[in-house]
Amino acid sequence: MRLNFSIFIKLLVIQYLSVLCVSEDFDFFYFVQQWPGSYCDTKHSCCYPRTGKPVADFGIHGLWPQNKDGSYPQNCNPDNALDEDQISDLTSSLQKDWPSLSCPSSTGFRFWSHEWEKHGTCAESEEIDQHGYFEAALKLKEKANLLQALRNAGIQPDDEFYDLGSIKEAIKDATGFTPGIECNIDPSKNSQIYQVFMCVDISGSEFIECPAVPKRRCASKVQFPKF
Ligand code: 5GP
Ligand code: 5GP
Repeated sequence: MRLNFSIFIKLLVIQYLSVLCVSEDFDFFYFVQQWPGSYCDTKHSCCYPRTGKPVADFGIHGLWPQNKDGSYPQNCNPDNALDEDQISDLTSSLQKDWPSLSCPSSTGFRFWSHEWEKHGTCAESEEIDQHGYFEAALKLKEKANLLQALRNAGIQPDDEFYDLGSIKEAIKDATGFTPGIECNIDPSKNSQIYQVFMCVDISGSEFIECPAVPKRRCASKVQFPKF
């Protein structure tokens, strides 16, 4: 009986330690989407994916584990490189919603691998494995249809300048949460809407009010360039 009890205690300790090992070491996620027109303007050029010019929509940049104090973990498991077979059922959705615009042209796999290795490996849990990470990001993009949210407020990619406050308000009206906006400066020195940051709970499924708003610089009026 005494032996059984000591085994039981040992099992409890092992279980406790394993929970500690897989528990997430970050406070929330930034879900970051980019406007392709601004990416291409900042870089003075960009390269369309081998599958062709992406549709004129926000594309996913990444789902980034983040801490409230502004720090963030990165490259947490170099032994866990992205395996194409793990996400084969998601490839066509990723090509559409997470296109890579850097040069030279690619299929997108290099960008997805980079994001998984740099950010995804720091969020690994039972649910957030390679497949779960990309599936979570795709679902979040569907939930927050930024282009529709902006269009509903009369804000569209037509090279016009819009009030930064109205952009944030339009996204808040549609999603319930205030985003962070990052701008870039194009070669004509215009401040353009480049990335939209939304905050997500550590399960990767629910938007939350940002515990720490990403501090990025934008002018009070920003251009929404055509793509
Ligand atoms: P940049 O210097 O262009 O703003 O960021 C370069 C890269 O650093 C980003 O693509 C991202 O991988 C990482 N990064 C920049 N800012 C943040 C941040 O606030 N949180 C996290 N988790 N990663 C960031
Ligand atoms: P970060 O480390 O900033 O999260 O990711 C940026 C890295 O992904 C850079 O090495 C960049 O060249 C590559 N990358 C590939 N495609 C894209 C893209 O469409 N947008 C951005 N922002 N980076 C891309």
